[in-house]
Parts: sequence; C-alpha cells; structure tokens
Amino acid sequence: MLKAIGREAVLVRKTTELRGLVGLIIPGGESTVISKLSIDTGLFEEIRGLISNGFPVFGTCAGLIMLADNLLDATAKQRSFGGLDVTVRRNAFGNQLDSFETDLDFIGINDSVHAAFIRAPIIESVGPGVEVLARISSGGIVAVRQGNLLGIAFHPEITGETRVHQLFADICDAAKLN
Ligand code: GLN
Repeated sequence: MLKAIGREAVLVRKTTELRGLVGLIIPGGESTVISKLSIDTGLFEEIRGLISNGFPVFGTCAGLIMLADNLLDATAKQRSFGGLDVTVRRNAFGNQLDSFETDLDFIGINDSVHAAFIRAPIIESVGPGVEVLARISSGGIVAVRQGNLLGIAFHPEITGETRVHQLFADICDAAKLN
C-alpha cells in the first residue's frame, strides 16, 4: 500500500527496526498475537513510548485494537498500546456478518471509501479529543483520529483503497515538520 502511494516501507519485527521511521502502521491480523509478540520482543514498551511522544501511528483492524485505551471482549492476557481515548469491542460483528464490504463516507476523503471488514472490531465510544471520521450505516464508529494517531476498523488494502494510507502519510509529513 505504501509503495502504491510512493512511500518506502520497512517491516518492523524488532526494536532496532523502529529507528529512522517517520510513522508506524500496525496492520490487521490478530490482536492477541500482536500483543504477545510485541511484549516478548520488547516492542510493546518501545511503541508505547513512541505513542506518548506524539509519533504518528496508524492501526487497521487488529491495529486499531492495539491503539485503543479500553478493550471489550479482550482475552485476559491481551494488552493494548493505548493512546486513542476510545473503547473498542473485538469481533463486534457476529457469525454471518463476520466479514462484509460496504461504502463509507470518510471525513477528509472525497467520494466514498470502499471498506472490507474482516472479523472486525467496532469503536463503541470516544473521548472528547477524538475526531470521528467514519461510521457504518447503523451509526457504529469505524474510523477515528486523535492527534497523530489514526485508527480504522476495516482493511483498505483488500479493496485497493489507498486514500486512507495517503491521509496517514500526510499526518507523518506534517509531524516531521513540527
Ligand atoms: N478479530 C481480530 C482481533 O481480535 C481482528 C481481525 C482483523 O484484524 N481483521 O484481533
């Protein structure tokens, strides 16, 4: 996705690989596993430190779960980095609706965003400093921004939707100038 918008991407698996970055993307996957592996590798504390210093971080799906201050339906052991003053419920769409695609109005992006939700979380509530960027038709919140943190409940890469990554790249550019 970053290549598609002309940005360089590096994979981060250990703490030394965090050096020299202008932003971090935490992808979808499984938040319980991201939680465990990040604690085991020491990335957990490093990423928490970056977030508290205002470093730009973008979380998609499981990545959104990792950025949430409060989790519902989490496992007993799982931890989140936090940073976003939101409450996120894991696996919020049951059985048949486990996965679905829909078009969203997204603040800051012209024309609708085609979004794929895969065992997706939902944002149940947001604190006063959090900007809601998109909702599904039921009213559920699926995209938020708070400062340099961006969190979305869906997978833009599955539908080839590059504009949310572009929005994050713009956040990284602006943060670099400050
Ligand atoms: N259900 C997964 C979790 O709890 C998230 C799914 C995804 O990232 N597509 O982490």
